[in-house]
Amino acid sequence: MVIVMKPGATQEEIDRVVEKIRSFGLRPHVSVGEERVIIGAIGDESVIRNVPWEAMPGVDRALPIMVPYKLVSRQFKSENTLIRVGEDVVIGGEEIVVMAGPCAVETEEQILKIARAVAASGAKILRGGAFKPRTAPYSFQGLGEEGLKLLAIAREETGLKIVTEVMSDRDVELVYEYADMLQVGTRNMQNFSLLKELGKIDKPVLLKRGMSATIEEWLLAAEYIVSSGNHRVVLCERGIRTFETYTRFTLDLSAVPLVKQLSHLPVIVDPSHGTGRRELVIPMAKAAIAAGADGLMIEVHHDPENSWTGDGRQSLLPDQFDLMMKELRPLAAVLGRKL
Ligand code: PEP
Ligand code: MN
Repeated sequence: MVIVMKPGATQEEIDRVVEKIRSFGLRPHVSVGEERVIIGAIGDESVIRNVPWEAMPGVDRALPIMVPYKLVSRQFKSENTLIRVGEDVVIGGEEIVVMAGPCAVETEEQILKIARAVAASGAKILRGGAFKPRTAPYSFQGLGEEGLKLLAIAREETGLKIVTEVMSDRDVELVYEYADMLQVGTRNMQNFSLLKELGKIDKPVLLKRGMSATIEEWLLAAEYIVSSGNHRVVLCERGIRTFETYTRFTLDLSAVPLVKQLSHLPVIVDPSHGTGRRELVIPMAKAAIAAGADGLMIEVHHDPENSWTGDGRQSLLPDQFDLMMKELRPLAAVLGRKL
């Protein structure tokens, strides 16, 4: 249930609604908008369905939310949410924000080289895994804290913000120290203890869609983070498992406009993992923008054949990344966006 207050409702009127929600054993969630305050009642709605909310002073109307994800739904908040990464990067507004970098941080030389190149081409955020979720336990697992330190050096030199994956609730504190945005990978989308822990921090979370997750399950994963206290969530479509084998995953671009209808959160697209093939990355990046994506995540490596993870095949070379940015700019402009 959401209780929409009248424009200009007083603090006292808001407090009275909050108290009433609590008195039924539900959790109030106050969201202060430009014009009015909206109060969500989180928990079993059936106990408050018959409360005459509209009779309370300052209340405009009460609306049941018919979908299982509440706080992230469009019904709860109609305007798009803008998510700030660091001081000056905003996802969900006019600008299409590009995150680029290697699959994994390998060496200082590698991350600096790639960071300089993608910054020069117009990326705003540097990606790179320090904790890598690998299918086989014998594969390179990432440099851990050493990798986070190298990302911080690259940020210092280039001014790029950092997004990097956190795989366990035990690592949230450590990754938080270095990252501007914390990534939840596809394999962890339903790691509920991780999601709850990320609900306690004040930095943005990039929530990738589980490779076998429905859109509803994905939005419910976002709801875990938001309902635990952190509203800064950006969703990332990265491909799902289908019967097709010529691509690594099937990039579900219909998810972009659909999720934007269902939720107020920004949505970005990762055509690198979504296709697994370098030659498909630029066309699918274009399609993602045309479908309304608020940003892109792109793997870039200067020496993909020798990359330490298996993702060289889907990584663009720095020159190809530069070409992609050049080709995307006029497209963004036609769509009324900046890049
Ligand atoms: C990644 O971004 O490096 C990654 C492992 O992505 P995903 O979780 O989408 O496979
Ligand atoms: Mn990768």
